[in-house]
Amino acid sequence: MQDVKIHDKVFTVMIEAKQINERIKTLADSINIEYKDKKPLFLGVLNGAFLFAADLFKEINIECEISFVKVSSYSGTESSGAVKNLIGISHSIKDRHVIVLEDIVDTGDTARYIIEELKRHETASIKFATLLFKPKALKHNFKPDYSCFEIDPAFVVGFGLDYDGLGRNLNDIYVLK
Ligand code: 5GP
Repeated sequence: MQDVKIHDKVFTVMIEAKQINERIKTLADSINIEYKDKKPLFLGVLNGAFLFAADLFKEINIECEISFVKVSSYSGTESSGAVKNLIGISHSIKDRHVIVLEDIVDTGDTARYIIEELKRHETASIKFATLLFKPKALKHNFKPDYSCFEIDPAFVVGFGLDYDGLGRNLNDIYVLK
């Protein structure tokens, strides 16, 4: 598979679309069993998780709902660490079994922030599912409940993840070369 150039940087394939689809299917299978009769509410984190959320959602065969939230925090290829705001919890999440769907957990700042915010809404339960997890970059005592792939701490794009706005439409996940 060919390298891609986005803005000034070259990226090479790290995880192929077929593998991504298989892992998402496996995750959906577990959720279908674990959340049977719980009517989970998926909360996709925009923008990066929109493809992950859509592909996972299509594989869920139990009663469920989906909604989206947004956090402003990141630009360029390094996390700014400054998480600002969680927008979009219009849906009533009180007493609901919430499953957060995130594209990637890097330092864990964003994940921790989202969970703290959601806890204030008296949910029945909160679990955190991420497509990608960089355990070596983690700064907090946090572990996602579900992660499709654990990766080394390098900058990645594709399958919803961008580099300064571009690259979200790549079907595979690419890493900075
Ligand atoms: P954290 O708060 O865990 O440090 O970072 C979480 C957010 O940073 C993710 O939701 C994502 O938007 C962004 N991020 C972290 N690592 C990467 C990466 O390798 N590539 C891209 N495109 N975004 C990343």
